[in-house]
Amino acid sequence: MKAVQIAAPGKLRILEMEKPCLSAENNVLVKMTAAGICGSDVGIYHGTNAAATYPRVIGHEMVGVVEAVGPGASKVKVGDRVIIDQVVPCGHCYACRKGRPNVCGNLQVRGVHRDGGYREYMAVPDSDCYLVPDTLTDAEAVMIEPTTIAVQCCSRAALEAEDTVLIIGSGALGSSILRIVRLYTPAKVIVADIDDAKLAEALENGATDVINSLKEDVPARCHELTGGYGVTVSIDAACVKTSLLTALQATGNAGRVITMGFSVAPTEINQFAITSKELDVRGSRLQNRKFQDVIDLVAAGKVNLKGSISHTFPLTDAQKAFDFVDSRDPSIRKIVLTFD
Ligand code: MN
Ligand code: ZN
Repeated sequence: MKAVQIAAPGKLRILEMEKPCLSAENNVLVKMTAAGICGSDVGIYHGTNAAATYPRVIGHEMVGVVEAVGPGASKVKVGDRVIIDQVVPCGHCYACRKGRPNVCGNLQVRGVHRDGGYREYMAVPDSDCYLVPDTLTDAEAVMIEPTTIAVQCCSRAALEAEDTVLIIGSGALGSSILRIVRLYTPAKVIVADIDDAKLAEALENGATDVINSLKEDVPARCHELTGGYGVTVSIDAACVKTSLLTALQATGNAGRVITMGFSVAPTEINQFAITSKELDVRGSRLQNRKFQDVIDLVAAGKVNLKGSISHTFPLTDAQKAFDFVDSRDPSIRKIVLTFD
């Protein structure tokens, strides 16, 4: 079978690999049909993802059709269209015992620490397969994974209707978070970004207020918009050096600050900013078994994943696809690799 492997940073190659076999653990054989290109895949390609190991078949937004099942596979049957969870936990460390496999101490992520979805077949446990709703094409179903990331951060924020929410950043991550935040009907959803066009889009998608952070002071504006209190939840979807401090300053007493970035650039904050307001600063990483939640939201018509795919490339044109991503063409939204 064909696979796309990042042999080393900057070196993408198409190679022939042995088709995986069913085993007691990996009891479902999936013939891949669509795999999304995510910012983190691009990071592994460029060598900027500290977690990745090489050589690696990347891709963690993995959709396919069940070709065969082995003993004990009860969740899916041959012919089912499925999306595959990327999180492979050890099952026995502290995080796993606390029901938080996405931050397992021995975490393996498909497409990062072990081979992912840019290959024609995968063998996985049936517990990692989720049925794709009929209303979505295989390419559209890829969007379920990025949406799980948004659901995870709202879950970490313990969002409630009386919250006032600041989302910093209105790119792919921020706009996906906005969609999910709105479902909680919070009193206010404020979106900050440096790009007026993205802010206009955020307003169309249900933001109550927007702030251009190049022109206005985000914490000061958040206090104004919330009667002086500050927002009760800040979510950092910009993940740049300054955004953590912005979030801490914008958030009022007893609020929650959610970080999602992987930057290791030092940034100066002080204890008083957290202690005086007794803020909860919580990381949100990957997702904790959120696929079914997103699929249920799609099926209920609460989340629309249609219209998010801007381009598709055949798997064997992966180099072209990654070069196109690097061109930063403004028409790029989600790019999907297809198999046929
Ligand atoms: Mn992704
Ligand atoms: Zn574990």
